[in-house]
Amino acid sequence: MLWQLICCLFVFFVSVFQGIKMDKEIVDLSSVRAKVKKQIEKAVPDARIDYCLTCGLCVSGCPASGIEGLDPRKFLRLFVLGQDQEILDTNWIYSCTMCQRCRYACPMGIDVGRIVYEIRGMRPKEKRPKNLQRSCDLQKQSNSTGIPNEDFVWVVNDVLEEVRENEPQWRDLQAPIDKKGALYYLNQNAKEPTVEPEEMVPLWKILHVAGIDWTYSSKWWDGANYCLFTGDPQDWEYTVRKQAEVVDELGCRYYINTE
Ligand code: SF4
Ligand code: SF4
Repeated sequence: MLWQLICCLFVFFVSVFQGIKMDKEIVDLSSVRAKVKKQIEKAVPDARIDYCLTCGLCVSGCPASGIEGLDPRKFLRLFVLGQDQEILDTNWIYSCTMCQRCRYACPMGIDVGRIVYEIRGMRPKEKRPKNLQRSCDLQKQSNSTGIPNEDFVWVVNDVLEEVRENEPQWRDLQAPIDKKGALYYLNQNAKEPTVEPEEMVPLWKILHVAGIDWTYSSKWWDGANYCLFTGDPQDWEYTVRKQAEVVDELGCRYYINTE
């Protein structure tokens, strides 16, 4: 009987000791792993990465599912499992369009697109997709394709003249630039005046038929926001503020963003 009691006590103390040891190990691991998750939780207070149920609802509507072997659910698991280097290295963040469809499908309200935005910003500029970074850098100077502002003005006037000549029913069509006091300010994706100038015309026609008083600007006219896609808040705020200054200078009441 005494021998059995000693055995039981021995097993009990060994179990308690192992339990304490396991707790300590868990604490030690969490202090060195998942640093990227902690950074995200600091930048996005409602990130709720730990709330993910791995239900997969986000995956069903995600256009980036399966690309680079990832989907939004797997992406979140990398954070939870502390796979920091995998998160920082994956090019899946450039397949995610940051469309936020997953956010509306997610029962826990997790916004994967917002998290992707932060991770994009953590990547050093020299390791980002070159064309994306170049477009942002150009936009900070003027517009994302880098064409001179004079060329933009010339292309708009040239295309307008061509439409008026070739389509008599549109001989009164307007494409004003720097028209002070116009009610609406219209921006323009830089790709169109650069490589597809005829694509600007349908919107001009719609505004004409609707009787809208509008204008372009001869500077900061590009409506794209490439610095948002690189994940650089200071840079995209700079380009948006430049556009806002132009709208104020012209005295327009409404801003039409075509992007
Ligand atoms: S829908 Fe939300 S909870 Fe479900 S797997 Fe996706 S992120 Fe996790
Ligand atoms: S934000 Fe990204 S992860 Fe979410 S649905 Fe869109 S592409 Fe997929």
